[in-house]
Order: sequence, then C-alpha cells, then structure tokens
Amino acid sequence: MNFSAVPDYHMHTPRCNHATGTMRDYVDVAIKRGLREIGISDHSPMPDNFDAEWRMQPDELEDYWQELDVAWHYGRERGLNVRRALEIDFRSDQPDYTQSLISRYPWDYIIGSIHYLGDWGFDNPDAQQEWEHWSLQDAWVAYFDAVAASAESGLFDIIAHPDLMKKYGYRQPDDARVKAAEIRMLTAVRDADCCLEISSAGLRKPAAEIYPRAAMIECAASMGISFAYGSDAHAPEDVAYAMQDCLTCLHRYGVHHVACFEQRQRTMMDFTR
Ligand code: ZN
Ligand code: FE
Ligand code: ZN
Ligand code: FE
Repeated sequence: MNFSAVPDYHMHTPRCNHATGTMRDYVDVAIKRGLREIGISDHSPMPDNFDAEWRMQPDELEDYWQELDVAWHYGRERGLNVRRALEIDFRSDQPDYTQSLISRYPWDYIIGSIHYLGDWGFDNPDAQQEWEHWSLQDAWVAYFDAVAASAESGLFDIIAHPDLMKKYGYRQPDDARVKAAEIRMLTAVRDADCCLEISSAGLRKPAAEIYPRAAMIECAASMGISFAYGSDAHAPEDVAYAMQDCLTCLHRYGVHHVACFEQRQRTMMDFTR
C-alpha cells in the first residue's frame, strides 16, 4: 500500500490556544515522515465569540491565511503540498456566519465539526460533569442529529471525527434509536456528497479507538461514502499518527481510496497502488 501518498488533512496551530509547534514544524515532520501532502485546518472563530479561548480570534483570520501562504511556499520548496483549510464548528442557528468565514478566502477544503451540544463542549475535559444531565441515548441521538445537520448545510467537504462523543469513554450504546440517528447522519453525509473523516485522534484519547468505530466505517463504506484521513494533530509529532492503522481499517471494509482536495475540488486517490 502506498501510504506516503495519503494526505493528513487535520492539524492545528498555537492560534487555537491548545496546540503546540509552528506551521513550519508540522511541515518539517510531514516531510520527515515521507508525506507528499498535508492540510492545516485550525479551529475557526465562532459566532458571538463563543468559547473564544479554544480558537483563533476573528481578527486573526487574515494572519492565519498569510501564515498558511508562507507554509504553502515553504512546503512547495521541499516537495510537500500544503493545503489551506479551516475546521469550523457548525451551529445550525448561525449558518450565515459559517458561510462568511468560508467566503473570505480560497480555502482548499473546509472541515465541519460538532464539538458542542447547545453550549455543552462535550469533548472538553473540564465539562464532563454535564453527563449527569444526559442519558447516553439522548446525548448520542442529539450528537448524530447535529452532525447530520452539519452535512445537510452543504457547507463542508469533510465531516470530522464522526463519533467524537465517545472521546471520554461514553461509547455509543447498542440502541435502536441511536442506530437510527447514526443511519440518518450517514445518509445526510452521502446525500450532501461530503466525505467522512477517519481520524487517529481517538487512539490518543480515553476512547482508545479510531474515529469512527469500525461498525460505522463498515456501514459508511457499504453506502459508498468517501473518506479522508486526519490525525487531528495538536502537536507536530502527531502528524500522520497511526495512518497505517486507519488505512488498514478502511481496506478491511473494501475502501481503496481517500479524498484529496484543492480549491474545494475533490479527487480520489487509490492508496492500495
Ligand atoms: Zn483542537
Ligand atoms: Fe475537532
Ligand atoms: Zn480528515
Ligand atoms: Fe481538530
């Protein structure tokens, strides 16, 4: 299998206040690991400065873009494509805000994420006590419904870590209502022609499992949904983390291609050749 041709499309920078290393550091590690393409996708600002301490400030977006441009040139001189991207938290009540972020620059792709149910940052280690107020079933249904809405918005190229709800070990329950919500979500992803991210970040968290779990990969693959790989690196040493495990998992379910993006045009790359 041709792992080095697979891009890592999910990595952060210190602008989000919870990642380390410069863009140049990420590029250097990617080159050292033999990659030919990466994409930098830091956390965008949110409407009304929501959860501002976990993301870049609105007035930083221009600096972020300029820095991406420097990284693009730096990578190009060394044989690495650097794609310019953003990870945006989707709020169904504020689609215009998301659209305005997307319209400002010629991004190569946009990652859509759900890290909040209402105001609850369920993937924040300091917000885990909120689980007292939720049943596992209700939380997972609400989560899948939110992910489905993000796909239906038509704003995104990649739907990130599609079972992030399990991050701290609150795994998807075996429940008909949750399963139905999962299928609705995957149907929305397929109908919007988004790709689903396969992310190694879950392996580095208490969940200790790839996002999404194998059962979802199998289901998505059978529905013909495309995948993109992301490490969700918040430190340079995480670039391309467990890429082989992720691709091996895709291959097990008959997936031989991953998505590549440039200027929001998707091409599929056969990683088995
Ligand atoms: Zn982050
Ligand atoms: Fe994320
Ligand atoms: Zn990805
Ligand atoms: Fe991320």
